Amino acid sequence: MIGKNYLATKKDLEAINEALRFVWHPKMKFVFQEKSKIANTAVISYDSKFIYIWTQKELKGIDKMQSGHPKYLFYKIPHALELKERWQYTWHADLWKNMEKFLPDQIKRENLFDIPRIGGGLLTPFVELQKKRGFKYNPYVTGESYLATIIHEFGHNYWNQHKLWWYSNKEKNIEYLTAAKNLYQKGGGNPNIPLHIPTKSEVGELFAFCTEYYASSIFWPTHRQALDIFGKYRLKELIREEKGKNLDKQDSVLEPSKNLHDFSLVFGKIIFECHPKKWPSFLTSPPYLGSHYGLGGPGGGDGRLGLHGWGGSPEGRHD
Ligand SMILES: [Zn+2]
Repeated sequence: MIGKNYLATKKDLEAINEALRFVWHPKMKFVFQEKSKIANTAVISYDSKFIYIWTQKELKGIDKMQSGHPKYLFYKIPHALELKERWQYTWHADLWKNMEKFLPDQIKRENLFDIPRIGGGLLTPFVELQKKRGFKYNPYVTGESYLATIIHEFGHNYWNQHKLWWYSNKEKNIEYLTAAKNLYQKGGGNPNIPLHIPTKSEVGELFAFCTEYYASSIFWPTHRQALDIFGKYRLKELIREEKGKNLDKQDSVLEPSKNLHDFSLVFGKIIFECHPKKWPSFLTSPPYLGSHYGLGGPGGGDGRLGLHGWGGSPEGRHD
């Protein structure tokens, strides 16, 4: 029975092994070019009594079990939480806060870059509860869509591990701080340093969208079709909505903080089609601020500040 007393079946657990086989499929190398960035991801699911964890790193102090996947260790931990519906029909590149206290120390939130997590419901409740949501053309009501969802979360983690939205490079930070300090001291001038600004975290959603869309195009054509049908329908709605808006007073339907999934439905699709070969590098390169090219190299700008967009940096230029 689906609901707060649900217990995992063999089929539920096997579905996660299957998703992991797709994550590591040779064709996914196109997306996950640096395997080390996803190798440590802990995959976490749960039923009414247990938390299930798949990881490639051994977790200390807990008995491991057979995962059925040659690369992964499998752990089962009891919990005392009441299972919420929302927990069962969604997946996230993180885990519910209430679950934190039951987790082993190694995969607690403070280790997010060492062992990133993805978590969500089991196959059967996921599909059944998604069906119950009853929104039109919902693509997430099949077994394929479940696998696609897990690969989508791996997309989030892969992108997150690039730390593009995070001031993670101390050397660079000191360079910027020193440059600004010197400019104040000298009263101005050109510091001649390449300027990268952090990427908006919303770009991670575009990467995850493209990951899911790419994997679906190869492995799950029916899910890809369902995404396209939903996309067509949703875009028609959004266009109608946008036409009725006064953008001086209201947010556009494209505003990512309002609806991240609509944002990725639009820009994810456009980027995927415009850059079919280079989107993985394009979306994981730091955006470059300034006129870097054709104007005499770093700092050779003429004062015009222009966001060249993702991929304006040299790393993003290989096609
Ligand atoms: Zn997402």
